[in-house]
Amino acid sequence: MKNRTLLMIPGPVEFEPKVLAALGEPTTSHLAADFVEAFGQALQDMRGVFESPSGQPMVLAGSGTLAMDCAAANLVKPGDKALVVDTGYFSERFAAILQRYGAIVTRITAPAGSRPSLGQVKAALELDTYKLITITHVDTSTAVIAEVEQLAALGRQYGCLVIVDGVCSVAGEALKMDAWGVDLALTASQKAIGVPPGLALLMIGHRAIAAFEKRSLPVLNYYADWTNWLPVMQAYAARKPSYFGTPPVNLIFALHVSLKQILEEGMKKRIARHITISQACKAGIKALGLTQIPFQPEFAAHTLTAPRYPIGVDGPEFLGKVLQSCVTLAGGLLPSMRGEYFRIGHMGAVTLADVLATISAIETALSGCGYEFTPGIGVDAARVAGKKLAR
Ligand code: PMP
Repeated sequence: MKNRTLLMIPGPVEFEPKVLAALGEPTTSHLAADFVEAFGQALQDMRGVFESPSGQPMVLAGSGTLAMDCAAANLVKPGDKALVVDTGYFSERFAAILQRYGAIVTRITAPAGSRPSLGQVKAALELDTYKLITITHVDTSTAVIAEVEQLAALGRQYGCLVIVDGVCSVAGEALKMDAWGVDLALTASQKAIGVPPGLALLMIGHRAIAAFEKRSLPVLNYYADWTNWLPVMQAYAARKPSYFGTPPVNLIFALHVSLKQILEEGMKKRIARHITISQACKAGIKALGLTQIPFQPEFAAHTLTAPRYPIGVDGPEFLGKVLQSCVTLAGGLLPSMRGEYFRIGHMGAVTLADVLATISAIETALSGCGYEFTPGIGVDAARVAGKKLAR
């Protein structure tokens, strides 16, 4: 593919050829036997990827924001109290969605690039009674990772439903939904799940289902109402066709292929690979003398890296020069510091070679912008940190 650029943004990412091939297959009926089997198997495989043997999987046509909207619409009624552990732009989006359905939202905040402490969250839980707590596992705007296991335990201790936005984490970061007591986790297809944009994925635990079943008011979102979708998901899981809205047939075939590949790699190995890839990328950036957004290394996600531009380097000029080396990176996202940093996504099918090509493109762009460093120092550091993945 002569004109291809390497897509290293935090979603969409590079996809496996077999996944992409599924998108080009002739579209079958959503009631056809081969589709029913693929959808049923994909729903089953989602349990393995979310590490939730007891969860209820759900797949809808839409993006990650729809998955958030769907969780809020079905679990919130006007006047419910929700606690949002705020680690950036996407935590704030969750707060806005919850408010749209009438929730009274309290946000526990921290400076950009940091995260609220467990003590802060516990203090808030002591002060009031919340129906639910939301945690953004990886806030893609800041590259900050939340302590999901500990926060979920706290949420449970105080009787909350624990909701995890895993859009930038599921299949890339450790998330053991059942073992950690997460009641609902959601994601989208275009990141570590490894399928082009277009699918909203939810895994709903039995406590969330029970809360939904206790509702006395209708869900204020017709499309996302679980009353419509639960019977459809249960039918396909039992290998029976069903209908509420036409499913995105080819995307679901692609999801079936990708989930199978993920489980074949194995969750443990896959998460370890993401950690090593992340270490390689971060080592390369550090060796070049660039600092990164998360304040402390233990706050930093493994699915993306958020380096700050060195003084004197202009963001748009730099990103344009990276693109000239056939690598696409993303700019900053958090409004308060948007122009100060850029983002490198490294999840899903990403390889060490992709990271080395990316660091090399960054070196070329930095030197084109007049920044001085020892040529090759970033690539060398990344190669050393990632050597476990070399063949
Ligand atoms: N949450 C997080 C953590 C995300 O990274 C994103 C997308 N970048 C979203 C939610 C929203 O997903 P989408 O863009 O697919 O609607």
